[in-house]
Amino acid sequence: MLKLVDSYKHRGLRQKLVENLRSKGIESDLVLEAVANVPRHWFMDSGFLDHAYQDKAFPIGANQTISQPYTVAFQTQLLDLKPRQKVLEIGTGSGYQTAILCELKADVYSIERQLQLFKKVSLFLPKVGYHPKRLIFGDGYKGLKDEAPFDRILVTAGAPNVPKSLLAQLKIGGRLVIPVGKDEQTMTTYERRDIKLFDKLEFGKFKFVPMLENRT
Ligand code: SAH
Repeated sequence: MLKLVDSYKHRGLRQKLVENLRSKGIESDLVLEAVANVPRHWFMDSGFLDHAYQDKAFPIGANQTISQPYTVAFQTQLLDLKPRQKVLEIGTGSGYQTAILCELKADVYSIERQLQLFKKVSLFLPKVGYHPKRLIFGDGYKGLKDEAPFDRILVTAGAPNVPKSLLAQLKIGGRLVIPVGKDEQTMTTYERRDIKLFDKLEFGKFKFVPMLENRT
């Protein structure tokens, strides 16, 4: 059995993390509340538990990382998610961002291309009370056609370019949040105004693990 403790101390550390994120410019109370509610230490290997509430990325196995809390909060704030909106996440990874989206009462679909991470997170998330609509093992470049269109799409790996399939799977009025670039990425949003009309905005530089093409 998993031993999942969320102590007074953990909650105190999370509150400090929230204040840290606020001082770095995260303004959304809803997003900060979600960060305060999700025990990030549950999503990390035990060797890193002490680091769970530092504002840093950490390894989660399979050569991947759990994103830095600031990055998670920043992307989630850009999503501007309303309850019951349909959101597609690319790069489930540890499931931490997925849990944050569940906290915000979204209908969450999340795709992961690493089998090992996919299996781990599929067992883990429901066990700790987070219930995404679907977790999918597959290639995020393709999106999720059978569930499209989405109100929001969030890419949590660095994309060398903006996949056309993801733009095509947005509702009119929907929004894609995607870090674009090779060595470093520019946080970018696309808002769909009409079938062929997208408003693009850029929000500074970030560093993500790469969004990879499916090898199969
Ligand atoms: N949201 C995650 C971030 C994990 S890092 C978290 O909070 O922990 C990015 C993840 O994207 C990795 O797990 C990686 O395996 C996955 N990934 C990379 N390319 C992908 C692709 N084409 N489709 C789906 N997942 C992908």
